[in-house]
Amino acid sequence: MYRRLLCFLLIFISTSAFAEGKKPNIVWLFSDDHAYQAVGAYGGRFESLNLTPNIDRLGKEGIVFDKAYVGNSICAPSRATLLTGKHSHLNGKIDNRGPFNHDQQQFQKILQKNGYQTAMIGKIHLSGKMQGFDYWEVLPGQGKYWNPTFVTENGNTVYKGAHSTEVITKRALNWLKTDCKQDEPFMLMVHYKAPHRNWQPITHWKEKFSTMTFPEPDSLFDTYEGRGTAANKQDMSIDITMRMDGDLKANQSPRKEFLADNPLTGKELVRWKYQMYMQDYLGCIAGVDENVGKILDYLAESGLDKNTVVMYSADQGFYLGEHGWFDKRFMYEESFRTPLLARWPGVVEPGTRNDDLVQNIDFAETFLDIAGIEAPDDMQGESLVPLLKGETPDDWRSSLYYHYYEYPGAHSVRRHEGVFDNRYKLIRYYGLDIPGDEEWELFDLKNDPSEMKNQYNNPEYAEQVARLKKELGKLREQYQVVEIDQPVPQKKRKNQKK
Ligand code: CA
Repeated sequence: MYRRLLCFLLIFISTSAFAEGKKPNIVWLFSDDHAYQAVGAYGGRFESLNLTPNIDRLGKEGIVFDKAYVGNSICAPSRATLLTGKHSHLNGKIDNRGPFNHDQQQFQKILQKNGYQTAMIGKIHLSGKMQGFDYWEVLPGQGKYWNPTFVTENGNTVYKGAHSTEVITKRALNWLKTDCKQDEPFMLMVHYKAPHRNWQPITHWKEKFSTMTFPEPDSLFDTYEGRGTAANKQDMSIDITMRMDGDLKANQSPRKEFLADNPLTGKELVRWKYQMYMQDYLGCIAGVDENVGKILDYLAESGLDKNTVVMYSADQGFYLGEHGWFDKRFMYEESFRTPLLARWPGVVEPGTRNDDLVQNIDFAETFLDIAGIEAPDDMQGESLVPLLKGETPDDWRSSLYYHYYEYPGAHSVRRHEGVFDNRYKLIRYYGLDIPGDEEWELFDLKNDPSEMKNQYNNPEYAEQVARLKKELGKLREQYQVVEIDQPVPQKKRKNQKK
């Protein structure tokens, strides 16, 4: 009897020591252009729709970051930052057009060298062969919603009759169930294409959302008064830029018949476009959330959830009609901010909210820290692990640096850089083709959360402007910002404003 008890105790001690010693797995769920306004956990005007119950689960069982931002609000550069832990000017991927140097240091290569199994499934939007992944299966470029082609090391596969959101989930689950050695640590990236333009939901969500109407943002008919050339001359408005057929499917039933019976113009047409846009965009969100739920369910069923960090985020935010816009690019909140929720059983206190300033330069170092690996010196972020534990360091950053480059280019948003200190936002636009070649905006988000009043020339804010200009200079030095020449102008699109 005594011997049996001793034997049991020894087994118990050795298995728990093994469990404690095993490094945590990482499942990184991600989507393209998911606005924080369309995540239930962030409240806002869609809150009552309960759009994202599964993504919200991560927050309830873990942490919601209320102040998560990107460094350059556009798809491919954001992804390059995620992999390298560096701002665009150092990883070289400043816009959607240039190549990404896959040979450079990336967090997944370091994880792989340290015994992690690594896999990337879905949209990465960086052309060329992925490196540092034991398995990768990615959409070429933007990829397609329906009948998507996926590229692997060994060739292409077309998934006929299928929606990309569902294929990505199935392929991720397949990797977990068949290729992944579940008793060894792994890092799996499940990166959805949805809800990127032109917003094609899975059929059952398309049907559900087609009967719904949605609240409008206060700034749907923004006139950009007091703001500079960039806001006034952009090409990303629902009114002018959004395409009736390509984006809004106005040539398809029942929208086609509705418009034939109801010839809309002016503000009524903008309002209709906004509703159709939301039907499609939010339908895509519901599809992503449903599929996030499938991944979470499998983790629970398999018991993997206990030792797995699950994180959800997106490559940047998006305008859902705010300022009259769709798309991203600007340093204004809707595109600068991004959703970030994480669950780590036993480490993150369930139901935690965090309002520290965090940025996508932090993700690479966070993943390395979770794996107990020291980050290389040239990564530019900070590990979020102390924040996950509810222990924000006293010297945590008090401001963020931002820089957008893709001009001239799609949507015609002028180049700009800026600084945000959690209340004030100072933005410098340049390369404007105007005398002086530079314009500034200052917003006080405490008194003007929708960023409608540019206070740059208001003498009452002179002190803040001077302080933030100094801070911007400091950040430029800290992040080793280098000047990057303007690319050759592209041909202007037909409907682009002069
Ligand atoms: Ca994107």
